[in-house]
Amino acid sequence: MTTYRRGGYVRGDDDGVERECNLCDWHCVADTYPALVGEYQAHLRSDHPRAWLRA
Ligand SMILES: [Zn+2]
Repeated sequence: MTTYRRGGYVRGDDDGVERECNLCDWHCVADTYPALVGEYQAHLRSDHPRAWLRA
């Protein structure tokens, strides 16, 4: 498991959730986990279709 703690992007648990892409520099911050998953899936589908198919 990888934990990302890069300066500027770390936020508290009650202040939203964040996801970084393992394949590029994309990252997203959202208010809720379902919203974040949706954003990440959309990113994978458009930018990494092969990874998206595997997910
Ligand atoms: Zn990506």
